[in-house]
Amino acid sequence: MIPQDFIDTFIEELGQVAYDICFNLSSTTLDFNSKVIKIITNDKSLKDWIENKYVPIISEILEKTYGEHWRVELFLDTQGELETTEYNEQLNPFFTFENFVVGNSNQFAYAASLAVAQKPGKTYNPLFIYGSTGLGKTHLMHAIGNYLSRKKNTKKIIYISSEKFVNDLINSIKEKKIEDFRNKYRKSDLILIDDIQFIVGKERTQEELFHTFNELYLSNKQIVITSDRSPKDLEGIEDRLRSRFQGGLIADVQLPDFETRKAIVKKKLERYDIELEDSVLDYLAQNFRDNVRELEGALLKIIAFSDIENIKKVSLDKAKEILKDLIDKNSQIDVEDILEVVLNYFNITKDELFSNSREKKIVYPRQVFTYLLRDILGLPFKNIGNILGGKDHTTVMHAYEKINIMLASPKVYNDIYSIKRILNRN
Ligand code: ADP
Ligand code: MG
Repeated sequence: MIPQDFIDTFIEELGQVAYDICFNLSSTTLDFNSKVIKIITNDKSLKDWIENKYVPIISEILEKTYGEHWRVELFLDTQGELETTEYNEQLNPFFTFENFVVGNSNQFAYAASLAVAQKPGKTYNPLFIYGSTGLGKTHLMHAIGNYLSRKKNTKKIIYISSEKFVNDLINSIKEKKIEDFRNKYRKSDLILIDDIQFIVGKERTQEELFHTFNELYLSNKQIVITSDRSPKDLEGIEDRLRSRFQGGLIADVQLPDFETRKAIVKKKLERYDIELEDSVLDYLAQNFRDNVRELEGALLKIIAFSDIENIKKVSLDKAKEILKDLIDKNSQIDVEDILEVVLNYFNITKDELFSNSREKKIVYPRQVFTYLLRDILGLPFKNIGNILGGKDHTTVMHAYEKINIMLASPKVYNDIYSIKRILNRN
């Protein structure tokens, strides 16, 4: 957790870009006893940049803010454990509704969150948001908190991960301070519990949570919960708790489509004083498809690099060079890749897919292929028509829209989702 006074001084002296380079893609802890700041990053080039350019400045600013000399320790962690090592219990001031880009994938969760922020404890209680990692659950949850704290002056807002809730409980039992624990949670005006899946299998925590829940619920205090899966898929939690989770509103966040991904990049870019060629935006949106956090990380890498090299406008070639390592890992996808997977998935031949057959067995895969060309690669309908052997662009658009609507059905959603997964593994 990085204290606000340090953040303020740092940004004032060095700007937002420098701050993001050092702290946004890393996990940072400050130890005030031994005067050590520990920065863990999972990116080798980022670690090198921080090491070469920022270490002395970081310790200078710490000294300026807190007096005394501070030591900076930098670590590389490529195991991807970064996300869970630190949990920041403050609301992130950037996670607001204004900064959230709305698309088909998250529209419902967004609307539900906004409704809850406007009428806390009244309309939807609890609000349960679920979906896979990096799709904006925590962002929406903080947006509710920020909204209530700024616009309605709500005071007692608790934001906590269920993991931290578990640890807090264990400690309070050990130290015989269970009453303090209960008071803290049960007296809040708004409670935001992030990543509830960690309470799976933990009976005592579930019991405590159940009572906390009831007390808050009965006094009309809003409860917001996020999870990586839906209440019904949360195996290993008590039924009475599950039914509480199901008693309010459940909203999911899904993978954003191409347009939304691009809009997110644009939104994030507003913070910086750097220009990217439009093709760079497309490239980012095309190549980071299943996790907004990674998309943002890629953008930040470009920003950091152009700042260091003093480039004012980043070209596509430059962006490709900067992201080479990341993209290789994610693997670039082209029309052939998508075609291959679609044919394989539906077990039909290329000739069948490109034929004029009206058989359902062929039409549906053709529509899925069309949809994926648009969704993954962002291709114009006209180009897709050409790829399909000269189909009219309105026909193509129709096929795309059809699948888009049919995504509401579990089968179609599952087909699309499965194909995308396969593609990402390539
Ligand atoms: P989750 O909690 O679902 O794992 P987060 O809420 O932490 O994901 O989001 C990861 C990052 O992606 C955050 O920086 C967040 O701001 C950003 N993000 C995700 N979805 C959106 C969106 N629709 N608009 C703007 N930023 C988004
Ligand atoms: Mg989260």
